[in-house]
Amino acid sequence: DPVVAVVGRPNVGKSTVINRILGRREAVVEDKPGVTRDRVSYKAEWNGKHFTLVDTGGWESDAKGIDAQVAAQAEIAVAHADVVVLVVDALVGITTMDEAIVQMLRRVKKPLLLAANKIDDSYQEPEAAALWSLGLGEPHPVSGVHGRGIADLLDELLKVMPEHSQYAEPELFEGPRRVAIIGRPNVGKSSLLNKLAGEDRAVVNDIAGTTRDPVDELIELGGQPFRFVDTAGIRRRQHMAKGAEFYASLRTQTALERSEVALVLLDVSEPLSEQDVRILQLAIDSGRAMVLVFNKWDTLDEDRRDELEREIDRDLSHVSWAPRVNISAKTGWHKDKMVPALLRSLDAWDSRIPTGRLNAFLGEIVAAHPHPLRGGKQPRILFGTQVSSRPPKFVLFTTGFLDPGYRRFIIRRLRETFDFEGTPLEISMRVRE
Ligand code: GDP
Repeated sequence: DPVVAVVGRPNVGKSTVINRILGRREAVVEDKPGVTRDRVSYKAEWNGKHFTLVDTGGWESDAKGIDAQVAAQAEIAVAHADVVVLVVDALVGITTMDEAIVQMLRRVKKPLLLAANKIDDSYQEPEAAALWSLGLGEPHPVSGVHGRGIADLLDELLKVMPEHSQYAEPELFEGPRRVAIIGRPNVGKSSLLNKLAGEDRAVVNDIAGTTRDPVDELIELGGQPFRFVDTAGIRRRQHMAKGAEFYASLRTQTALERSEVALVLLDVSEPLSEQDVRILQLAIDSGRAMVLVFNKWDTLDEDRRDELEREIDRDLSHVSWAPRVNISAKTGWHKDKMVPALLRSLDAWDSRIPTGRLNAFLGEIVAAHPHPLRGGKQPRILFGTQVSSRPPKFVLFTTGFLDPGYRRFIIRRLRETFDFEGTPLEISMRVRE
């Protein structure tokens, strides 16, 4: 569902407006101090459309630098949102604290609705109209207390709300975890599949896919069922006719889209090919969890093994975050290493770092390893937040562009600290002037 953040300084009646939207009277908003408090979100609905409403309350009203704190709190919420509703107190007008939020919102290019609260009757509407001067578009007069104007506000909200959220949690696939086995022809995909399905015997049945082509197989491994997606495509031996690679690539992409984790197979009896690299890139770009599986290990002699490990470290350094499993699909050697690697990667892919923990980490790292001075200035990381998972996505708020080397350093430490082995991470920076 689309995510709607409601922002505004304390005392503008934000909670009252939120409760009106939710159709209830009790205020159950729990305010905790500090910018690093996680937001409270509610399921909401209007005219059959569902959305998630995020309340951004929570700060110490007597703290120093309160304007900055309120703006920071709002900024984190807005980073997570598809649409923003700014609530102001139309009777009080615009305070410096409102102004701090407005300035932040002007920089963020997201659909925005301005709710002018405390307009309890039509005589007060000119107070709302005065808020045109903010340059945030039409002020919508509402009364949280009486419910006046809320329906109109929600109608407007539906108009600007996107169909699909960029920030909502991706829908959890139902049932067993979904695995895609991918790799170029002859790396041993069907051999591996047979080995996994055959010897663990337990549940091997075909599940007709929802779309006409892909057929999945449920295979129990280590006492847990996994859904291997689009195995029909693996079992059906493809002739490498002209253009076949194009279709193979399409099928790889479909399998990735339908999966949560990719087993990327590589053949150690042959040099890494361009096609291997392309397929690996598709897996990286898909944002799925990943395990690198080096197959045909039985073909190697002792010397070649060490050499190969070094080659892998060198050639695949850009996916050093993915766990590696060396196997032989032919003999079944190391087959049992597959499940722990799969589960680990999926765990990392699912994980969510609470804003408090993330900022404690950022605070420590920035104190111990400040960004190098650049032209007498020192870009700083102010705070950060994880905006979604599967895969984990982060937004860091900074006072200037971070050098690529420093970014890599932060990402590396983030991976180490929070154990992100097996998942790609997305990290974007928001520079505040
Ligand atoms: P697919 O096209 O990726 O499904 O590959 P296949 O599973 O059909 O395997 C291609 C060829 O590699 C077959 O001749 C397999 O017997 C062989 N093969 C697969 N895995 C191994 C392995 O671990 N060791 C050896 N020596 N051969 C393997």
